[in-house]
Amino acid sequence: MGELSHKAERAAFGFAIDKTLQYMNKDPENRDKALLKLVDLSENFMGDVYQKESYDGARALIQDHDAKWTKYFHRLLEELDPHVIKMTALDLGFEAAFHGTKMIRQKRREHRCNIPWLILLDPTSACNLHCTGCWAAEYGHKLNLSFEDLDSIITQGKELGIYFYMYTGGEPLVRKADIIRLCEKHNDCAFHAFTNGTLVDEAFCQEMKRVGNLSLSLSLEGFEDANDSRRGEGIFEKVLAAMDLLKAHGQIFGTSICYTRYNLETVTSDEFLDLIIEKGCRFTWYFHYMPVGNEAAVELMPTREQREYMYHRVREIRGNEGGKPIFAMDFQNDGEFVGGCIAGGRNYCHINANGDMEPCVFIHYSSANIHDVSLLDALKQPLFMAYRDGQPFNDNHLRPCPMLENPELLQEMVTKTVAHSTDLQSPESVEHLCGKCREYANEWKVCAEKLWEEHPRQMPGYQNYKYENED
Ligand code: SF4
Repeated sequence: MGELSHKAERAAFGFAIDKTLQYMNKDPENRDKALLKLVDLSENFMGDVYQKESYDGARALIQDHDAKWTKYFHRLLEELDPHVIKMTALDLGFEAAFHGTKMIRQKRREHRCNIPWLILLDPTSACNLHCTGCWAAEYGHKLNLSFEDLDSIITQGKELGIYFYMYTGGEPLVRKADIIRLCEKHNDCAFHAFTNGTLVDEAFCQEMKRVGNLSLSLSLEGFEDANDSRRGEGIFEKVLAAMDLLKAHGQIFGTSICYTRYNLETVTSDEFLDLIIEKGCRFTWYFHYMPVGNEAAVELMPTREQREYMYHRVREIRGNEGGKPIFAMDFQNDGEFVGGCIAGGRNYCHINANGDMEPCVFIHYSSANIHDVSLLDALKQPLFMAYRDGQPFNDNHLRPCPMLENPELLQEMVTKTVAHSTDLQSPESVEHLCGKCREYANEWKVCAEKLWEEHPRQMPGYQNYKYENED
């Protein structure tokens, strides 16, 4: 698409969003019309890139005012800051999901390598907290990507169609001034930060409101006792106070939760979910504990029964009927919606504070550093090409990971491509890492095969990776 027609399309989307917001409270019928117009625009623009059923589903939902997710969506429109809604729809919707997706697919064919939809960046390895067992600490506490480094990654990324950037660390808000500068400079991109929440204050909320293209995930591990025993005294209260501020400012935020053998039932309980919903969380990310690092506590890994419980519980929470009005995502059990492992640049990759480009935030091996090579060349590094060749790593998308559920595959890829450990504190051999996953992988396999057998694999919206990647 030429620059002019891109601008015209963005303006048309912006106009439809303004209309929706204008009709929001006074005229529900016109509001529905404006929302339907947005769906029509999306469908016309995307052609057959997304399945027709997805658009029809969205149209049906808009007109079903009693449906749980319609009510959820209306609450977003009523409660969020209008500028935040508009920027999110334009940057995450129009630029990343529509324009970016089209461009990425073309670039993948052109360069014959994986081009991700989003990049996860560590602006710093520094953190203001010292949580027990935090993997971020593995990198050491003195590394930073400069503003110029981050700016260069984003600038190069946009040339490949990448319009969504997430930050983790370390604590990314240690660099909040630079994060806001990047939101301003790249106001056609959506940004998201995984944060411990303790550096969120009134001034930062004002800045988030002004730029409109930054959302947050705040880390929690359970209620006060469980949370603070690992993260430090008083942190739970600070996170809840940050949520109150963000909610008052109409910001989009949710939680980031690492589930373990010891907190899994608590963090998925009705009581816990009711609390975070009341505090204004719109979504919750669940991350399975990964035994990464020489000092990892393998005993924290969930049992087979707990993982199966998690699989069902996440689907129950976000079900159309019942459940909870919060969008729950489980990084390990939701592979079916994205065709398995998304790492190695297939849909995402991670760049640590040293500049090493890694396949995934949990896979600390690489042979490319963005200080030495371009973003595109880093995406072509041997380990990423091995990911591309191997994906999906399993036809059963409940066993997506080349480390956790198929550890022999990561070991083979890292060995073959001679990727080195990027853990600067205590480099871990791939044999050591994968050795810790073997027993878990064997146990989970039995359960995962049973679940996959019973699974309605051809659900609407499900798209197989092979289809997308056909050259
Ligand atoms: S490498 Fe494992 S944890 Fe990372 S995206 Fe792939 S499946 Fe998920």
